[in-house]
Amino acid sequence: MTTSAERTRVAIVGAGPAGLLLSHLLAASGIESVVVDQRSREEIENTIRAGILEQGTVDLLAATGASTRVLTDGHRHDGIELRFAGEGHRIDFPSLTGRSVWLYPQHEVLRDLVATRLADGQDLRFGVTVDHVADATSDRPRIVGTDDEGRPFEIEADFVVGADGSRSVVRAAVTGSSTGGYFREYPFAWFGILCEAPPSSEELIYSNSPNGFALISQRSATVQRMYFQCDPEADPHALDEEAIWAELQSRVPGTTLQEGRIFQRDVLRFRSFVAHELRRGRLALIGDAAHTVPPTGAKGMNLAVADVVLLHRALTALLDDRDERPLEAFAEVALRRIWKAQHFSWWMTSMLHVAPDASDFDRRRQEGELRSVVESEAGRTYLAEAYTGWPFETRL
Ligand SMILES: Cc1cc2nc3c(=O)[nH]c(=O)nc-3n(C[C@H](O)[C@H](O)[C@H](O)COP(=O)(O)OP(=O)(O)OC[C@H]3O[C@@H](n4cnc5c(N)ncnc54)[C@H](O)[C@@H]3O)c2cc1C
Repeated sequence: MTTSAERTRVAIVGAGPAGLLLSHLLAASGIESVVVDQRSREEIENTIRAGILEQGTVDLLAATGASTRVLTDGHRHDGIELRFAGEGHRIDFPSLTGRSVWLYPQHEVLRDLVATRLADGQDLRFGVTVDHVADATSDRPRIVGTDDEGRPFEIEADFVVGADGSRSVVRAAVTGSSTGGYFREYPFAWFGILCEAPPSSEELIYSNSPNGFALISQRSATVQRMYFQCDPEADPHALDEEAIWAELQSRVPGTTLQEGRIFQRDVLRFRSFVAHELRRGRLALIGDAAHTVPPTGAKGMNLAVADVVLLHRALTALLDDRDERPLEAFAEVALRRIWKAQHFSWWMTSMLHVAPDASDFDRRRQEGELRSVVESEAGRTYLAEAYTGWPFETRL
């Protein structure tokens, strides 16, 4: 079989939020790119994942025309509730930081981005699997794989971006191995459900209870997303609906949950990961390919957007002005935010979950930690600043 060989300026592997948004910003700067993804458009647009967008993410999506629906169909949330020892404590974001977050599901962001990119004539290819990066150390790297009909293909580019998620194949070309990075696994996971019910609360409730953690989240007037802490090996189909509601309800004393038909359930394992390198020559990693965080801090997709802002700046300097300096600074600057987000995600996770081996001392210390946050303006402000998102860094 002959291999089709093509050329572009930026070859982007992965049509998740990171890859699609980068192609959108590059196009606005007049830089051509090709985006390839192994999944179908339908699959990408229907995978339920993150739901909370930082203020900066929303501002960027709206200002660049990537998504205008976020402002009309998304819901602004001005706070969250931390619940522990039987009491709820609201963290009010605007009064602490002047910022808010938005509830707008990731698959809606992807629908908007795919529609915008295709309407703009973006070369966006579904069902195309990249196997590896060839000539990775040259200034003409190539992505190599098979297209949607199983035929071999290659695309040569001035720059290759790995936006291909946590199982990145581009990572091996950047770090020298597919797993090369700092890694931490947690002894618990989230049992997540989507159900047909009205909201049980207007804002998200993060609850630390003797039975374990629960998150009461929303999706729309008729669909809700809720999670409870479970064993990472739990089988999502082992519990019947009655048992799931009993687990959830036992962890949010003081709130009567609105129950309804459960139409999706999954177990989401918790991992923290940062790749040892984010860039090598004419290759870079962004989004989950570069790092993953446990979902407690709602940072995953937002961190991908922050990477995109920086890499867009570095690539325009490189490809328009032949200025390599911003690219040289990219990894160091990106890592400052990544490690802050890693810390925040780890902190929220360890503060709110009950470790399987927690002693009485650990439980009481945890309550002391939660009180230190909610009873102090400095504590509430740190949480609010991190949750609503630090300003994007654009100087490189
Ligand atoms: C089940 C799940 C639930 C989550 N829930 C939350 C949450 O509640 N809150 C939160 O903040 N974050 C959550 N996250 C994390 C968040 O969704 C991610 O941080 C976000 O999707 C990162 O975007 P990305 O573009 O970097 O990667 P992805 O969205 O993973 O996109 C990567 C794309 O690359 C494609 N790809 C991979 N390999 C190849 C290849 N070899 N060739 C071609 N294409 C390839 C994939 O098909 C995929 O479309 C969740 C993640 C998962 C997996």
